[in-house]
Amino acid sequence: MFAGHVGAALAIGRAERRVNVGAFIFASVLLDFVLWLLVLVGWESVTIPANFSSTHQPEFVFPYSHGLLASIGWSALAGVATYLWYPRLKQAKVRAAVLVAAAVFSHWLLDALVHQPELPIAGTGSMKVGLGLWHSMPVALAVEAFIAMAGLYLFVSGARLSRARKVWFSMLSLLILALTVVGMTVAPPPPSVVAMAASSLGTIAVVCVLAWWLGRLSHEMSGRGDRQQSSPKT
Ligand SMILES: [Zn+2]
Repeated sequence: MFAGHVGAALAIGRAERRVNVGAFIFASVLLDFVLWLLVLVGWESVTIPANFSSTHQPEFVFPYSHGLLASIGWSALAGVATYLWYPRLKQAKVRAAVLVAAAVFSHWLLDALVHQPELPIAGTGSMKVGLGLWHSMPVALAVEAFIAMAGLYLFVSGARLSRARKVWFSMLSLLILALTVVGMTVAPPPPSVVAMAASSLGTIAVVCVLAWWLGRLSHEMSGRGDRQQSSPKT
């Protein structure tokens, strides 16, 4: 699940255009970002099972990044960071903080839909949840594609984006969706967990930086009048 998380971020990004959509996208994959960092330092673990070629599902032990309580904590932390990061939003700071926290928590909800019951409520020994939609991969991918496209539509419609910018956002969403589908269907098992962590972190970084850049440009486009006055300050 990558395209679905980005779709949720785009839908939430529609609700607060003053926050760069790249921030919402990073928020929506924050739990995976934390997961792969913790895997690299050995605090969480990922196992590539022997039947990976047919299931495309690694097995996760990830109480600190994907536990329900931990996810609520990460969401709150991201909300506080947003509140502090955007002083210029004044009264809208709380709203922006809540929306970013919602983007972080949307990750847990979507993961709980597709993962097998492996998301712990609290610590490692606690009850684990997961509806296991990935066991019906075509259905899971159809649901994910729907979320990705609905989010994209919500974000680009009604925005004061140039046609070119809408095309860029659409291409980025379609590329992420294609990567997701390939990853969950025909991709060979990753050579190692470290390689999987490195490529996942790299993908997250590239997508977030690209989205941030596109988001900046769209801010400039929509505020062209203000920009001429405010540019000497920046
Ligand atoms: Zn995840």
